[in-house]
Amino acid sequence: MNSPEALPFDAATVLGAGLMGRLLALTLARRGCQVSLHDAGGQEADGAAARVAAAMLAPLAESAVAPASVVRMGQYGLDRWPELLESLAQPVFFQREGTLVLWHRQDAPEAARFAGVLARTVSEVPGLPAMQRLDAAGVDAIEPAIGKRFAQGLLLPGEGQLDNRQLLAALLTSLQALPNVRMHWHSARAPGDFEPGESERIIDCRGLGAKPQWSNLRGVRGEVIRVHAPEVSLRRPTRLVHPRYPLYIAPKPDGVFVIGATEIESEDMSPASVRSTLELLSAAYSVHSGFAEARILEISTQCRPTLPDNLPAIRWLAPRVMQVNGLYRHGFLIAPAMLDTTIELLTANTSALASSFALATE
Ligand SMILES: Cc1cc2nc3c(=O)[nH]c(=O)nc-3n(C[C@H](O)[C@H](O)[C@H](O)COP(=O)(O)OP(=O)(O)OC[C@H]3O[C@@H](n4cnc5c(N)ncnc54)[C@H](O)[C@@H]3O)c2cc1C
Repeated sequence: MNSPEALPFDAATVLGAGLMGRLLALTLARRGCQVSLHDAGGQEADGAAARVAAAMLAPLAESAVAPASVVRMGQYGLDRWPELLESLAQPVFFQREGTLVLWHRQDAPEAARFAGVLARTVSEVPGLPAMQRLDAAGVDAIEPAIGKRFAQGLLLPGEGQLDNRQLLAALLTSLQALPNVRMHWHSARAPGDFEPGESERIIDCRGLGAKPQWSNLRGVRGEVIRVHAPEVSLRRPTRLVHPRYPLYIAPKPDGVFVIGATEIESEDMSPASVRSTLELLSAAYSVHSGFAEARILEISTQCRPTLPDNLPAIRWLAPRVMQVNGLYRHGFLIAPAMLDTTIELLTANTSALASSFALATE
């Protein structure tokens, strides 16, 4: 929760109006700050990783590729999101129906390794609901649209998802309603463009755009496909164990599904490759043949802003200039933890939350 203490400054310039920038700008403005928000792109968040993301909130599933600190931040986020969403001007789709994990027979060894890592996470992180092993009838019972096509699966109870684009739009509307917020679109800026006085702060949330000031940031390319498949009814995000990257199908409102995501060590933002597109669409088709008749709405590419250890960090670049970055593939999962920790640091220059998450702050 945000500290009730008064902020020791009364004006803030937030650079980047993606996920973290919008959340921080709104929180600071509601705490009485005069906020200027700059983004290199437009108000649709067209330059943000946040616009392309699937926005799954899956701490246990992510533990296959992330340490316990990220899992704990994710648990915090799952509980905190409803409160954050409740305060917004427009409704945002959010659910906690769990994650279903499936695999084809040939990927059974990889699935066994995945299940082993998750079992270890559950034993290490208190409060995580245990995963449930399913046979074909069990998969059919919770996701009848899939039927008995898969001999085995795992259910990760309590995991969630939200609609990223509804969230970005609701944050925008909430910001627009505040008289103490000024938004500047198509306004690429760097921290050095400003000279903050005693009672001002710069908060740099430019994701990969902060690379000139954070040299070991890198982009991790992800390709995703949005389809409209009104005849497919999946209740929860479904992950397919895959030897190269965990593939998923995330249902969104109105028959839309996000199928993703590749994970490629590259900052190449060029359009998706044929190979990735084939892999993603075949994965979806193998889970539900109804995807054959789906209509492709969009094939997008973005890069996840990532630090060398793949972990998020908050640091002071200069007195009164804070940077929040490295949210990698977990941005929505950990955003509430990053938000509340940043507010604690901005308020008191120390954060109990940061210590509890073992989060790097300098
Ligand atoms: C394919 C893909 C799938 C993902 N799936 C998930 C998922 O399922 N769950 C999950 O939790 N996370 C997911 N993520 C990760 C999540 O999207 C990111 O971690 C998150 O968006 C990072 O937030 P951010 O605010 O740091 O950066 P961004 O959201 O990228 O926002 C940065 C903003 O800064 C702006 N900017 C850049 N340079 C400048 C400049 N010079 N001046 C002003 N503005 C500038 C950009 O235009 C942008 O709007 C996914 C990401 C990708 C790419």
